Amino acid sequence: MRRRIFSGARPTGRQHLGNYLGALQNWVNLQSDYDCVYCVVDIHALTTLEDTSSLQKNIYDMVLDWLAVGLDPRKSILFVQSHVPEVTELHTLLSMVTPLSWLLRVPTFKDKVKMQPQNVNYGLVGYPVLMTSDIVLYKAEVVPVGEDQLPHLELAREIVRRFNHLFAPTFPEPEGKLTNFPLVIGLDGKDKMSKQLGNDIELALSAEETVTRVKEAVTDPERRYRKDPGHPNICNVYRLHGYFDPFRQEELAQECKSAAIGCVDCKLKLAEEINETLSPFRERRAELEKKPQYIKEVLADGAARARTIARETMREVKENMGLI
Ligand code: SF4
Repeated sequence: MRRRIFSGARPTGRQHLGNYLGALQNWVNLQSDYDCVYCVVDIHALTTLEDTSSLQKNIYDMVLDWLAVGLDPRKSILFVQSHVPEVTELHTLLSMVTPLSWLLRVPTFKDKVKMQPQNVNYGLVGYPVLMTSDIVLYKAEVVPVGEDQLPHLELAREIVRRFNHLFAPTFPEPEGKLTNFPLVIGLDGKDKMSKQLGNDIELALSAEETVTRVKEAVTDPERRYRKDPGHPNICNVYRLHGYFDPFRQEELAQECKSAAIGCVDCKLKLAEEINETLSPFRERRAELEKKPQYIKEVLADGAARARTIARETMREVKENMGLI
């Protein structure tokens, strides 16, 4: 039997290259070896989101991109977190076995308190418990994580161990599948690619829009004139080339250092590589866009399949806790 993997993402709307290279590409590949459960974590989003007017549109746009890049509802369960209300029930029950001190020491909680001092809500503290509920409600055994997320997963494992010890062995301890998620730097050349920072390249842009966006990319700041030798090691355009045409990296570095290629041509080449990679995805996206009902059906079917697993887990949880 294939092992079950769980992963989720906040509903951020149309996906960008950072989402694709950093997670989606990996999610698509995992479908061949695992029983995958992929979730739009809309309740998590509420811990930081005060205006929810775009939430439904963002969920729709994000799932549209997920399907277009190759997440396959016949292979994976794709659903929205709040469509399976058992997750909030499990969250409440797990919160009874989670010492508050464990949650208060989580570094991301401290960061969030600094970032949004006007909105330090209860959900922010309980975030790791909800995250644990997401994973164990489906009895997922594996969670793809980057090195920076390992402490979160360790906390989930501690909660699981405590629950299993206090009541009865109920949940598998989820294991991290360390994945080398590339940290994709945005067009500003300094920060992680992000929609909020406006330094992203959306997957769904047209070929022409992609060229326009790539032309805005910051390159080697020390290369001011066409004849100046460049420094590819400090140029983000060079790094981006590496994701799309890794075998030409060495040659490109030489051309840059000897000023045989100018930054304008180098960017045009990058835009061409991006467009070539994304072209099949854009075609699929255009087809899917013609049938908005299909996205709703995929999510309804995903929620129904997820709920079947969730109900069975909750029955076992309540039995082991003496609630039924
Ligand atoms: Fe960067 Fe390319 Fe310009 Fe070199 S030629 S500095 S790699 S954009």
